[in-house]
Amino acid sequence: MSTHQVTNQAPERVGVDEYGTNTALVEGVERYDAAWAHPGLHEIGVRVGGEQFQEDARRANRNKPVLRTHDRWGHRIDEVDYDPSYHRVLGAAVAAGAHTSAFAAPRPGANVARAASFMLFAQVEPGHACPVSMTHSVVPVVAAQPELAAQWMPRLLSTRYDSTLSAGKPGALFGMAMTEKQGGSDVRSNTTVAAPLGGGRYALTGHKWFCSAPMSDAFLVLAQAPGGLSCFLLPRLREDGTRNEIRIMRLKDKLGNVSNASSEVEYEGAVAHLVGEEGRGVRTIIEMVTHTRLDCILGSLAGMRQATAEAAWHVRHRSAFGRTLIDQPAMTAVIADLQLETEGATAAALRLARAYDADADEQETAFRRLGTAVMKYWVCKRGPAHAAEALECLGGNGITEDFPLAQRYREQPVMAVWEGSGNVIALDVLRALAREPQSFEAFDAEVALAAGQDPRLDAHIARTRDRVRRITEDPAAEARARRLVADLALSLEASLLIRTAPSVVAEGFLAARLGEGMGRLFGELPEGVEAAAIAARA
Ligand SMILES: Cc1cc2nc3c(=O)[nH]c(=O)nc-3n(C[C@H](O)[C@H](O)[C@H](O)COP(=O)(O)OP(=O)(O)OC[C@H]3O[C@@H](n4cnc5c(N)ncnc54)[C@H](O)[C@@H]3O)c2cc1C
Repeated sequence: MSTHQVTNQAPERVGVDEYGTNTALVEGVERYDAAWAHPGLHEIGVRVGGEQFQEDARRANRNKPVLRTHDRWGHRIDEVDYDPSYHRVLGAAVAAGAHTSAFAAPRPGANVARAASFMLFAQVEPGHACPVSMTHSVVPVVAAQPELAAQWMPRLLSTRYDSTLSAGKPGALFGMAMTEKQGGSDVRSNTTVAAPLGGGRYALTGHKWFCSAPMSDAFLVLAQAPGGLSCFLLPRLREDGTRNEIRIMRLKDKLGNVSNASSEVEYEGAVAHLVGEEGRGVRTIIEMVTHTRLDCILGSLAGMRQATAEAAWHVRHRSAFGRTLIDQPAMTAVIADLQLETEGATAAALRLARAYDADADEQETAFRRLGTAVMKYWVCKRGPAHAAEALECLGGNGITEDFPLAQRYREQPVMAVWEGSGNVIALDVLRALAREPQSFEAFDAEVALAAGQDPRLDAHIARTRDRVRRITEDPAAEARARRLVADLALSLEASLLIRTAPSVVAEGFLAARLGEGMGRLFGELPEGVEAAAIAARA
């Protein structure tokens, strides 16, 4: 520059092993039986922390997907063009098994390793995680249908990504379409009609208001069959290799998640296959939804990790008023608090992922039923405020699109809406408490493993149990649902951190999140919290 020298700007955060530097994640992977995955996760960590992947992530979000409804001769084609960088990112995630590795090679810790790889990719590029997550989540549903499984499972479990639409391609990605204009949470209001064609085949006519990743090879779709709302597998190609009658009307112009296309679609007699029984559509698709809810937790957590790490990096390299920012107590407290949030969410997310492994018994299945809903609510709802605080650590730079946290800030609210918005999830927790008492028993038993170790947690557990006990008789239960779910989430996070985290982290979390200590905003740490030691883990 002719006018000045550039000083005191943080260097680019690149060339980092995003796995190795995420101590809480490494510890959790080891704790939940996935240490065998360390080498592969380090490889992914180095890849996503590298210049090329980061540049691809930037490009994929700058050059948004474009819909091409027709070819130049006027034939309907319904194709979405993505920047080549998006295909590279998605291809890398699929090659690493971030989509279906937990099902392709089931073993203790398989879902933990898969969760870690999914998060590493999503930390740097969130949009591609949508089709990756839906493909993972559809596996248990497809696997339960022998005829469809024979056709689709080998492709679902393949690690080969091919962005083209062709019958013989080795791998396949899946999407899901439930939401219609008149209702998304209330899918029973779906109007799309499924007319039987015989042999388990139906013709679908109607629309979907949101259908993400419309270039997927097939979708699980809800539609009204003669026997009621039912679940269907809708392939993009018909059996004869021609395009199914799926029209993409528009792409959504979204706040976040912009590298991933989300579309509005119409079905004009599209041929689909019944999955499960007629009239049991919600029950059939809920298995997929439960898995995607876990991935919403993982996706939000990936964002928290990115936000915390980028903020910590900046303040270690930036000085103001003569001192490095990280050494200034008000900033140390903010970074430590962002890290405490990330630690609690990491502990809970990995514990839950372990409960999805093939060896899960009844207790584990009951635990994950309630635990997934509770943590989906809490982690996804905490994400946006966490991202806002983290980007503020970068000062003005944080607001600019040159740094990754502006994009992250736009991304975080998306996962709170997806797969059940806040209220819907909170009401689902109430439903589980009322109708599936074993899910609370399993959840409570997990939390109680730390009973007697800290009076703040003991008091919190006792209060929460009491409210759960009274919830079924409480006429205002729905109005109080959010508070109850938040308290359940905090009890799980606190219990896990007491049992597994370094004592400074557990003590910091208890002081800052339970009882009197709960701050209204990030950075309001109570006295006695060892902020510098906690921030060091960021
Ligand atoms: C980026 C993006 C991608 C998406 N991709 C897909 C996709 O691929 N496939 C798909 O099917 N859907 C998709 N969706 C749709 C998403 O799942 C729905 O938007 C979501 O389920 C909410 O439905 P809705 O928009 O109809 O809102 P509504 O159901 O109308 O809800 C509006 C608000 O009311 C609240 N609410 C609802 N019921 C109650 C109640 N009983 N008590 C109190 N409050 C209540 C909700 O929490 C919400 O805050 C996507 C959404 C986004 C943002």
